[in-house]
Amino acid sequence: MNTETPKTDKPLDFIRQIIAEDIATKKHEEITTRFPPEPNGFLHIGHAKSICLNFGVAAENNGTCHLRFDDTNPDKESTEYVEAIKRDVHWLGYDWGEHLYYASDYFTQLYNFAVKLIEMGKAYVCHLSGEEMRTYRGNLTEPGKKSPYRDRSIAENLQLFEQMRNGEFDEGTCVLRAKIDMASPNFLMRDPVLYRIMKTSHHRTGDKWCIYPMYDFTHCLSDMLENITHSLCTLEFENNRPLYDWVLDTLQTPCHPQQIEFARLNINYTVTSKRKLLELVEDSLVSGWDDPRMLTLSGLRRRGYTPASIRAFCEGIGVGKRESWIDMGILENAIRDDLNTNAPRVLGVLDPLKVVITNYPEDSTETLEALNHPQNNQMGKRMLPFSRELFIERSDFMENAPKKFFRLSEGREVRLRYAYLITCAKVIKDENGEVVELHCTYDPESRGGNAPDGRKVKGTIHWVSAAHSLQAEVRLYDRLFTEEFPDADKEIPFKNFLNPDSLQVLTDCRLEPNLANASASDRFQFERQGYFCIDSEDSSAQHLVFNRIVTLRDSWAKLAGKK
Ligand code: ATP
Ligand code: MG
Repeated sequence: MNTETPKTDKPLDFIRQIIAEDIATKKHEEITTRFPPEPNGFLHIGHAKSICLNFGVAAENNGTCHLRFDDTNPDKESTEYVEAIKRDVHWLGYDWGEHLYYASDYFTQLYNFAVKLIEMGKAYVCHLSGEEMRTYRGNLTEPGKKSPYRDRSIAENLQLFEQMRNGEFDEGTCVLRAKIDMASPNFLMRDPVLYRIMKTSHHRTGDKWCIYPMYDFTHCLSDMLENITHSLCTLEFENNRPLYDWVLDTLQTPCHPQQIEFARLNINYTVTSKRKLLELVEDSLVSGWDDPRMLTLSGLRRRGYTPASIRAFCEGIGVGKRESWIDMGILENAIRDDLNTNAPRVLGVLDPLKVVITNYPEDSTETLEALNHPQNNQMGKRMLPFSRELFIERSDFMENAPKKFFRLSEGREVRLRYAYLITCAKVIKDENGEVVELHCTYDPESRGGNAPDGRKVKGTIHWVSAAHSLQAEVRLYDRLFTEEFPDADKEIPFKNFLNPDSLQVLTDCRLEPNLANASASDRFQFERQGYFCIDSEDSSAQHLVFNRIVTLRDSWAKLAGKK
């Protein structure tokens, strides 16, 4: 696995600067980071940014990056998600080695830390209802009011907390709260909840616990227990930092990781929130978490994105402190760049139109040599069968074509890629006047595509031999949303902006026979059409299914330019 970030002259981002400084000043001998997903859904492209950052920074400094599941809300979490997340992190090219952890492994230790806070007079059991707690919390202009339960004795709090743990109270009847400052300008410091009662089985601890720690209490202590040096998270956690520090300072823990926030990745024309992605899955608006239109890592994988292209994308966008939107075209360019260099070229006809070469002998076949990559001889050659009946792309023929149409039209000559020059002699139509077949003649002297007399033939089109071609279904994908910021307006559901044309299924495509040996991990450029791969879920030897990964050019940029 090669995941080393190539050394470039790019200046270090602000997080890498902090870390370089911490190493220079010997604040830390070894760097330890973590990627802490909650197993309540599949990972998406936003998580890729965090994975590349955390694992990347650790690798660059010979440090360690942990994978830790932040599994403190059994209502929404499952083993299925844990396994999917592990698969996706590995696929992206990162390895946590022996450093796989679960917040649920720390439940006993966390409970003991909570008891310690109570003993210090820094936490109390509160019986206010959720609604009451909200009114007591105050607002931006008014300080909060102290809970009537705030000054309970330590002994009583210890007793009540134990009863909470023993299941003696119903859900929602009480919580454990930190005793901090009800007048703090930071709402999160107004006696935040540390533990709540949830009588739900946990996917790892079963029914052992009926109280579960909150994120703010769990996260800092988990980081501390793992000796994390730099706890990197997204900007929305900026206000949580004082609480992160309060817990560790109050408990006087031996290690105090530094929380640093960076801007999350936002991409236009999509949603990157597990909750929203889950809604799309649950409402069957997509085929599943790995629907190739979803920007989940499993969707991108099935679509045909390479891990290297996603890592290159994350490196390219960089890490900063300001919220910003990244254009979807940048992600698409990352996979285009990769495949332009690495994908072998093949011929495939998406919308076939039959061509009969009337002066070519019946029952005869020959094989012609084709380059796998015109700019890279090292990728070798392959053979293409040629015969009397072919398929070409319907859009490569036009009746009454304008002068500048350099493809096929009655009386015009065109080059078949790697094959011969052909001239269209006759157009055959059905009873509805639709073109169903072309009769052409070929120049037997033009094998390979060059005119023997040096005459100029401008257009070159792709083709396949009808009898040898493979029939395939091809799925063309477009953006899942028509709106650039589908979840910008809180009043209008993001699902209103789904693109009705985001999936187009072509059922009768004809591909060159060499593709019979393709495997799900191969990616190809269908010349003039884009980049394609086998659909790992639905394709079989009997029924080939290909996905279009991306078009050859950014068609959306063109549209935007025309506006
Ligand atoms: P979502 O908002 O999709 O539900 P989350 O933040 O709740 O995501 P977690 O499982 O808690 O999901 O995320 C794990 C890590 O990934 C966190 O450190 C989080 O900050 C980071 N992360 C999540 N979304 C993004 C994003 N869009 N860009 C960068 N990092 C992200
Ligand atoms: Mg989260």
